Amino acid sequence: MLRRPPGPRVKAPAGRPCRLANSVSRMLAIVGATSSGSIPRRPVLPIEAGTWWWLFDGYMRIPGDKTHPWIFIVDYEPRRALAHACLRTSTHPAASELRIEHAPHAEGHEATCRLNRTGWILPRLVRPISLGNIHVRERNCLEPDSGLVSRIRGMR
Ligand SMILES: [Zn+2]
Repeated sequence: MLRRPPGPRVKAPAGRPCRLANSVSRMLAIVGATSSGSIPRRPVLPIEAGTWWWLFDGYMRIPGDKTHPWIFIVDYEPRRALAHACLRTSTHPAASELRIEHAPHAEGHEATCRLNRTGWILPRLVRPISLGNIHVRERNCLEPDSGLVSRIRGMR
């Protein structure tokens, strides 16, 4: 993914075209960046099923004020209003709780991966999420076990 540090904002004065601003816009258009020079907040769609994201408890309507890893269980396409994701917790669930034990991911398999201890996926704890609550920097990784999403969906 292309990431650029935030740069100075170059803007032409109203009513008068600025040659520098125009050439900067052209360069940014070539590299696919925005003219404000900011890092895009929203992730690029579609988001692939099987990707892990860190999402705030409050957004996901679960008790708490932390972030937890959630796995997308369907591809999230531009035309969908909501995505659906499933919770992974590192707190051992009650014996009666439907769960999938999930081993830590291999260290360094993706630079951003923080799934470094055993957790439990709760297939009944699936929540809708709107794109506005997903931050591009909260992507964790793509789940290496390609069969996991179908297992979760099969248990719901
Ligand atoms: Zn990972």
